[in-house]
Amino acid sequence: MPLFKPENVNTPVLSQFSLGGKIAAVTGGARGIGVEVVRGLAEAGADVALIYTSSANAPDIAAQIAKETGVRVEAFRSDVANRSEIAATINQIAEEFGHGRLDIVVANAGICANVPALEYTEETWQKNNSVNLDGVMWTAQAAGKIFQKQGKGNLIVTASVSATLVNIPQLQAAYNASKAAAVHLAKCLAVEWVDFARVNCISPGFIMTEMLTKQPKERMDKWISLIPGRRICDAAELKSAFVFLAGDSCSYMTGADIIIDGGYTLL
Ligand code: NAD
Repeated sequence: MPLFKPENVNTPVLSQFSLGGKIAAVTGGARGIGVEVVRGLAEAGADVALIYTSSANAPDIAAQIAKETGVRVEAFRSDVANRSEIAATINQIAEEFGHGRLDIVVANAGICANVPALEYTEETWQKNNSVNLDGVMWTAQAAGKIFQKQGKGNLIVTASVSATLVNIPQLQAAYNASKAAAVHLAKCLAVEWVDFARVNCISPGFIMTEMLTKQPKERMDKWISLIPGRRICDAAELKSAFVFLAGDSCSYMTGADIIIDGGYTLL
C-alpha cells in the first residue's frame, strides 16, 4: 500500500485542518504541553482521550475542555511505562470512543531529571528511559496495532531539541539520549508502518511548564540569553503544530521532526 492519500486533497486548505469526527488520545495530557495538545485537538473538532498518571484533577480538566469545545473529552489513568497497562488503555479508548477505531495518538508523556552522568544508578537511568523511550514505544505499539487493522492512523511523538544538542546544564544525558532515541524510533516506525500510519515528531525548545518551572532562576535566565527569540515559549503556542500534523493537510509528511524553539538550535 502506498502512503495514504486523503480524498480531500484538493479541498480548500483550512478544511484539511479540521479534525471533526476523528478520535485522538494524548499521553501526559493533564498538564503542560499535553493539556494544550488536548485542547488544540478538541478545538479542531476531535474527540479526545486525555491519558494521565497522577493528576487528581485530570477528569475536571477533561470536563472543562469538553465544555469549552463541545466535543467529547475524557480522562483515563494509565502508566506509559507499563506495556500491558497502556495497551489496555489505548484499546479501551478505541472501544469506548470509536467502537475499536482510533485516528490520532500523541505520545507526549515525559520526565526529566538533572543528574550528573557519573552518579546515575540503574534505577534513575531506567526510570528516565522507561517513560521517555519505553513509554513512547508501548504507546506507539498499542496504537500501531489499531492503525494496522484500520489501514490508517497518525502517531505524533513529543520529542525535544535535546535530541539534537547537549542541553545546558549538561546534567541531562539520560533525558537527551532518550529523546534522541525517541526521534529515531519515530523515524523507524514511519518507514516500517508507512502502509498504514504517518509518524512524526515535534521537538520543542524551552516551554513554560512544570518541567521548566522546577529549574533554578539562574538556569532559566541563561537559557533565555541563548534563545534568539529571547523568551520562553507558552505551551499554548505549540498546539497548532500538533493539529497540523494530526490533520490531512500534511498527508505526505512522515518521519519528520518539527523543531519549535525560537531559534535556539540555530546558534
Ligand atoms: P510536564 O512535566 O508538565 O508534563 C509531563 C506529563 O507526562 C505529565 O502530565 C506527567 O503526568 C506525564 N507522565 C510522566 N510520567 C508518566 C507515565 N509514566 N505515564 C503517563 N504519563 C506520565 O512537562 P511538559 O513540559 O508538558 O512535557 C511534555 C513533553 O514535552 C515531555 O515529553 C517533555 O519531555 C517534552 N518537552 C518539554 C519541554 C519543556 O521545555 N517543557 C521541552 C522539550 C520537550
